[in-house]
Amino acid sequence: SLTGTDLHLSFGDNHVLRGVDIHVDAGTTTTVIGPSGSGKSTLLRVLNRLYEPQQGDILIDGVSVLKDNPDQLRRRIGMVFQQFNLFPHKTVAQNVALAPRKLRGLSRDESYDLAVAQLDAVGLKHKADVRPSTLSGGQQQRVAIARALAMKPEIMFFDEATSALDPELVKGVLALMSELSQEGMTMVVVTHEMGYARDVSDSVLFMDDGAVVETGAPAKLFEDAESERLRTFLSQVL
Ligand code: ATP
Ligand code: MG
Repeated sequence: SLTGTDLHLSFGDNHVLRGVDIHVDAGTTTTVIGPSGSGKSTLLRVLNRLYEPQQGDILIDGVSVLKDNPDQLRRRIGMVFQQFNLFPHKTVAQNVALAPRKLRGLSRDESYDLAVAQLDAVGLKHKADVRPSTLSGGQQQRVAIARALAMKPEIMFFDEATSALDPELVKGVLALMSELSQEGMTMVVVTHEMGYARDVSDSVLFMDDGAVVETGAPAKLFEDAESERLRTFLSQVL
């Protein structure tokens, strides 16, 4: 499980996270929704300590991780962003193999075999030895997911992973994310895809202005929202 309690972060006098609580049970998917600027990306970055929280705690399986080396935490959490950031001069397999080689100490052959297996799992084994630029955006994002999974993370974060994709490519990436959810990966997904939030996630967390306004099962939030702010948000995005 992943837990954040009373998380605060300010940039100068911009108080971006104002006491956020989040709890994601092991093997479940929590979707984070909310307006632009509400602090969703910042919350993910605090939870993997790319930004250090100025107050609050972060726990994995009930154990605080704030005293650990942040790199140690980041290896336990795979992250997928809107931009795929694949290395253009490396092959697809080399992109996936890089971190396992450098950080998990695998040999060249071991990391290549792992990369191909991971690419197979996202349906892209046949693209192992080509350059990323020859792939569609959707395929590149699946490579980015394979790259994150190759580190064998305990938890996966997705931040608007489909927002940069052409509409016809979104489905394939969402299908892969749903598959991961169903396989029991622990996931935190920031998304504007309300269909995914409703159908795939176990829990939805609605943020506004740096705070969690409402959280619960998707059926409850989407069909029976308590707060006016969530109802307004949903009326704008649904
Ligand atoms: P979006 O849906 O547009 O991605 P978001 O909910 O992810 O929005 P954040 O990116 O978390 O929002 O931003 C929340 C607030 O924090 C904004 O006011 C933003 O300007 C500010 N912010 C985020 N990152 C930084 C940074 N590195 N330095 C200064 N301010 C930042
Ligand atoms: Mg964001």
